[in-house]
Amino acid sequence: MADFPTTARVVVIGGGVVGVSALYHLAKAGWTDAVLLERNELTAGSTWHAAGNVPTFSASWSIMNMQRYSAELYRGLGAAVDYPMNYHVTGSVRLGHTADRLTEFKRVVGMGRYQGLDLNILAPDEIRSVYPFLETHGLTGALYDPYDGDIDPAQLTQALAKGARAMGAKIERFCPATAVRREAGEWVITTPRGEIRCEVVVNAAGYRAREVARLFGRDLPMVVMSHQYLLFDTIPELAVWSAEVGHKLPLLRDVDASYYMRQEKMGLNLGPYERGCRAHWVTPDDPMPEDFSFQLFPDDLERLETQIADAMARVPMLAKAGLSKVINGPIPYAPDGNPLIGPMPGLPNAYEACVFTFGICQAGGAGKVLAEWVTEGTTEWDMWSCDPRRFTGFEDPAYCLAKGREVYANEYAIQFPQHFWPEGRDCKLSAVHDRTRALGAVYGPANGWERALWYARPGDDTSDEGSRTWDREGPWFGAVREECLAVRDSAGILDLPGFSRFRVKGAHVADWLAAQITGKVPSVGRLGLAYFADGKGRIVTEMSVARLAADEVMLITAATAQAHDREWLQKHLAAGLKLTDETDLWSTQIVTGPASRAVLTKVTEADLSRPWLTWQVATIAGAEVMLLRVSFAGELGWEVHSHVADTPAVWDALMAAGKAHGLRPFGMFALNSLRLEKGYRAWKGDLSTDYTVLQGGLGRFVDFTKTHFRGRAALLAEQQAGSAKRFVTLRVEAGAYDPPYMSTIWHDGKVVGETTSGGWGHRVDACIALGMLRADLAVPGTALEVEIFGQRCAAVVQPDAPLWDPANARIRA
Ligand SMILES: Cc1cc2nc3c(=O)[nH]c(=O)nc-3n(C[C@H](O)[C@H](O)[C@H](O)COP(=O)(O)OP(=O)(O)OC[C@H]3O[C@@H](n4cnc5c(N)ncnc54)[C@H](O)[C@@H]3O)c2cc1C
Repeated sequence: MADFPTTARVVVIGGGVVGVSALYHLAKAGWTDAVLLERNELTAGSTWHAAGNVPTFSASWSIMNMQRYSAELYRGLGAAVDYPMNYHVTGSVRLGHTADRLTEFKRVVGMGRYQGLDLNILAPDEIRSVYPFLETHGLTGALYDPYDGDIDPAQLTQALAKGARAMGAKIERFCPATAVRREAGEWVITTPRGEIRCEVVVNAAGYRAREVARLFGRDLPMVVMSHQYLLFDTIPELAVWSAEVGHKLPLLRDVDASYYMRQEKMGLNLGPYERGCRAHWVTPDDPMPEDFSFQLFPDDLERLETQIADAMARVPMLAKAGLSKVINGPIPYAPDGNPLIGPMPGLPNAYEACVFTFGICQAGGAGKVLAEWVTEGTTEWDMWSCDPRRFTGFEDPAYCLAKGREVYANEYAIQFPQHFWPEGRDCKLSAVHDRTRALGAVYGPANGWERALWYARPGDDTSDEGSRTWDREGPWFGAVREECLAVRDSAGILDLPGFSRFRVKGAHVADWLAAQITGKVPSVGRLGLAYFADGKGRIVTEMSVARLAADEVMLITAATAQAHDREWLQKHLAAGLKLTDETDLWSTQIVTGPASRAVLTKVTEADLSRPWLTWQVATIAGAEVMLLRVSFAGELGWEVHSHVADTPAVWDALMAAGKAHGLRPFGMFALNSLRLEKGYRAWKGDLSTDYTVLQGGLGRFVDFTKTHFRGRAALLAEQQAGSAKRFVTLRVEAGAYDPPYMSTIWHDGKVVGETTSGGWGHRVDACIALGMLRADLAVPGTALEVEIFGQRCAAVVQPDAPLWDPANARIRA
């Protein structure tokens, strides 16, 4: 016990590959006073039995970043820490059975190229040149990834551990964290060998992360599934071929049939993601055992029959091989299948790096990201896709189970841009959900809230299958067009439950807010858009500010930003200010279009001549509401904010008054189209920490006359030196598809930028992309190309003004 560390700067709980990578990267960043606690032996959780596949492929930009970094790290790690290990870069073949699948591949090839990865697509008759044992029936092509491979997960963990120790970090094995408490601004971690005081703590407890989170009083959204792979005996044919060519087969993923298969020694290893998947330890009669270190679940081959039969037909030599071993181990799933990396919501100096379903291939990148969170408070890449604060607390065990099963069973499914998965729905319903449903609303969730995406007309296809398409003109297209044109020509009403909103009150609220945002604080009675930057001037978040009184503001922000923005505000709150989260108290209707004033005149005595960017209290249907004169749709309009209990009456009054004026309900798809035409940015697409406020073209929201605000020095330096990138609006001669997030922009044969969102503008009848472009090219009229699913489409940089109503005359009407 004498040498047991009683203090450390940072303690990592959990010695799987992720925890050890976090330790390694913390030490590398100079935080060498670091201790890792492992309840058993390193790798005892999910790591020891993992198949060890290390793909770079991902349809998510940030996950691809992490996996690319991991592969790069692993290539040099053995030499860097002097711990030779088995890492085979075999390449991989990802099979496609449909045209839609090839479209997905083309998108990933484009993203990969931008990240420096040279992925390419093979025609069906080319696949056998890299994978000779394959039958090509039913295939439309394949994606070849030369960087894919497999690594020994235990060796990888030990190599990282060796590297971390060499830098001074300590690893305490057979030493579980059993309690935590906060004392005098520090964390105190209890273990059977004594207590450790530390500044920062990290939960990296893998499938036990929920148990560890409970020590912090937090309920972590996750579920434990079981995943199996089958090891087959030596296949003589394969052994002969391997000896002849001197390397292993590439890893095979038949994603439409839902399995991976790779060469393990001279046999094969087959890992299916089956539909009839199984969660464990979810009911009181099946509690998680006190200890499951180095243990497995019993084999359960029945549920894999479809994939086994499929694999044998695809690679017939598999049918001749004897099954030698089945590995069935615990694998954690968050409700969206991504890990949790980042600040632990609501607690100071506590972080999470857990719930990894692909922890072997992501550990390298995850360690880097976690270390940046801890040591710098921010990350190089925007990592919202993995931020624990994307979950806000409504995700109860039933939700986690339903979503976990759904994600597992669809692990390789195509993520179509307008498709929303059916499980875990109806968690939060608007006060007028029954009314919008009766009007034909088709819903999609945002922070659990079901919001109308579009309103189906009689005969429109509202099936789940119908929304699984890359096409712009999906079943919703005609209805969305009508909705947009109604907003343009008469008026539309959008039910928008779940806006996040925070009231901040206190004598010095204006001074405090001025130091938090880059721009001006609106005066009493007025509204403003506010940008919150980090120390590097990058965009942390955007909020609408309603200045309620000299000492009071209401901050309104995206539904999904609730936990993130609350935490940011709380963390930076000045003494004497009171912050209240009023999200659940209010609901919102957006009433917009040239007839919106006429509609509102019928239901309220409010002064509707008050200018754009003002707010007032008004009465509608006997209820007190807040009327905010703004419109994300870019027309004359108001946001009607009512208390939830009053919302049905307010909705009914507006609908009745709107009848004579052609008021039409519209949904989020229409709103997205309308906002693109105005160049209004969306959070975590166009607005993210990947860009600074100035790069984002938001210079008019930066007030350098203020002597102090977060990010000022960095933004000033950028202003003096000039921005490397600039926000632009493009008109694109697109074909059947709109450009998705992170489509590459080309000029003169070079990649010069990326789109951050794209879609069809029905008022301007054009495909629009918002994006970031090399600054010297951000000149109106510059001809470019946007690569949309592999096809380069002509595009032109537009003037730095909205495409629709550039002078804002309609909004100000
Ligand atoms: C069959 C199977 C095959 C897989 N194949 C792949 C693959 O090919 N590629 C891939 O990328 N991923 C794969 N995975 C997933 C991969 O295994 C996990 O994502 C990864 O191992 C997670 O690592 P981790 O460090 O987060 O968690 P773990 O490895 O589970 O480590 C967590 C550690 O925390 C320790 N711990 C828990 N509670 C405490 C406590 N209170 N105090 C101290 N220590 C504690 C545990 O003992 C454990 O060692 C596979 C999973 C399975 C089941």
